[in-house]
Amino acid sequence: MFEDYNEPKIKKEIHAYWIHDTARDEASIKGYFILPTCICSNCKTQQASEREICPKCGAIMDKPATVKTIKTNKKK
Ligand SMILES: [Zn+2]
Repeated sequence: MFEDYNEPKIKKEIHAYWIHDTARDEASIKGYFILPTCICSNCKTQQASEREICPKCGAIMDKPATVKTIKTNKKK
């Protein structure tokens, strides 16, 4: 007997992660604080907060979230 192996015809899964916005905060040890707003690493659409799936591009956000790197122009 042969088994038919049909690949499921689902959309190609996109895996992505959130990149959180940061704001400068001189009082903080790091020099910034992390905002709840974040952008999808795949489609760069901003969201008010993290979601499991990007509502814009449908990416599965199962990769660890990161923080947007900000340039600190600290002059001595
Ligand atoms: Zn997206």
